Amino acid sequence: MPLYICTACGTQYPASDKPPVQCAICEEERQYVPERGQTWTTLEALAQSHRNGFRQYRPGVLGIGAGFAIGQRALLLQTAGGNVLWDCVATLDAATVTAIKALGGIKAIAISHPHFYTTMVEWARAFDCPVHLNAADKDWIMRPDPAIQLWDGDTLELWDGVTLIRCGGHFPGGTVLHWGRDKGIVCAGDILTVVADRKWLSFMRSYPNLIPLSAREVERIGAAMAPFAFDAIYGHYFDRVIETGAKQVLETSVARYVAAINGARGY
Ligand SMILES: [Zn+2]
Ligand SMILES: [Zn+2]
Repeated sequence: MPLYICTACGTQYPASDKPPVQCAICEEERQYVPERGQTWTTLEALAQSHRNGFRQYRPGVLGIGAGFAIGQRALLLQTAGGNVLWDCVATLDAATVTAIKALGGIKAIAISHPHFYTTMVEWARAFDCPVHLNAADKDWIMRPDPAIQLWDGDTLELWDGVTLIRCGGHFPGGTVLHWGRDKGIVCAGDILTVVADRKWLSFMRSYPNLIPLSAREVERIGAAMAPFAFDAIYGHYFDRVIETGAKQVLETSVARYVAAINGARGY
């Protein structure tokens, strides 16, 4: 039986003879069903229709994605102790598996929030590795699997200076990854969203439906990041990267957001 994948958000569902009636992720207020209606694909069909592109941002930081569905790209982080796949993309074909295996495979997958869970179980099986998800978002796991390991609390240390940080915001379990190399790198998904000018960050409950977060939630994001030193932030699209000065950008962006949402003069 096929495992259907939602073409709007990239979420893969358990095996079923007919496609699911609805995509629970798209029906919820943080996503949307496209005007054309709900449509489905499979991993096999995706391998024909889409191809992953790769972008090396710096040695050991490799972007992977095909622009499918929400259009995010994943990041392969190469540490001495093993590779981490940060966030996930639905598109997993034979070429991608071969290329990543040649780079040492994947020791663990960590994902920022449910919109990027996509085909995580396929990736976990292809690379025989666990998937670390924050337990607060467990109700949004559409395809449960023994490879999924839920974590609680504020942080989860992996290895080689890689730490997962729960920021909340966009989702209660909204997570970013901090890596201590090169003055500090943060992989942020759209929990800290690098905006179009790449000079600022913003923070939303829903991006497509333009639902903001409260000042309190955004201040909590700032507090969660305060203990960590970093210079670069990698957002969720190929071109959304702040290469330097990112710690300052986060601090001023939290302040700008809170001023705006509180109706400060000038906003
Ligand atoms: Zn969907
Ligand atoms: Zn999202």
